[in-house]
Amino acid sequence: MMRINIATLFPAMCEAFLGESIIGRARKAGAVEIGCRDIRAYTLDKHRRVDDKAYGGGTGMVMQAQPIYDCVMSIIGDLGENAHPRLIYMSPQGKKLDQQLVKELAREDDLIILCGHYEGVDRRVLDELAFEEISVGDYVVTGGELPALILTDAVCRLQPGVLPNEDAYSNESHYNGLLEYPQYTRPEEWRDRRVPEVLISGHHANIKKWQDEQSLEVTRTKRPDML
Ligand code: SAM
Repeated sequence: MMRINIATLFPAMCEAFLGESIIGRARKAGAVEIGCRDIRAYTLDKHRRVDDKAYGGGTGMVMQAQPIYDCVMSIIGDLGENAHPRLIYMSPQGKKLDQQLVKELAREDDLIILCGHYEGVDRRVLDELAFEEISVGDYVVTGGELPALILTDAVCRLQPGVLPNEDAYSNESHYNGLLEYPQYTRPEEWRDRRVPEVLISGHHANIKKWQDEQSLEVTRTKRPDML
């Protein structure tokens, strides 16, 4: 079973998301193991500080190396000596996350994900532990928690036992390089708009053909760069 540990100053923020819906159920059922570690619990500062002003000046605080290092080393110790966790720092400077990278990460046994906050993290701890950097896109958010949760969610849904079956994700947008066909549910008619007849025909081969064609058409219209 895959294990993911998130090192953060705001574990409650992560737990709020990870306790709900599909990921929450997967955790309860034991399909994935996800832990949230409070970096602040590892500070040696008597005022429990975890950040300080940046050398060289500028606005904003930088997260200090020591609490992060001790937190991550403690997680590594708990994983056991046979574990080879992949260390990831969520960063706007990192490699952009896409479904290819998600699939690759989903094959790992252990991920440790570091969330930065404020102006970021003292470079030395990233170099010392050889973190790889992953970004959720070319924009900046206030902390690494949402990016870490995006990565965690995307990776967890590919684990066995999280979704009902492989079909639930293998037909989806980006999985095989195309976007998904349009989806409909009841009623058959809503505000004079009917569900495409083929979908209520019960003819499986025709439905499959329509879905494949639509998938191609949607990709051509919305994301021609993917073709
Ligand atoms: N000063 C940093 C820079 O310019 O590269 C940005 C710091 S950002 C305000 C605070 C934290 O949010 C970062 O340490 C990182 O963990 C996270 N973060 C912000 N944008 C992100 C993105 N696009 N992808 C992943 N993490 C991001």
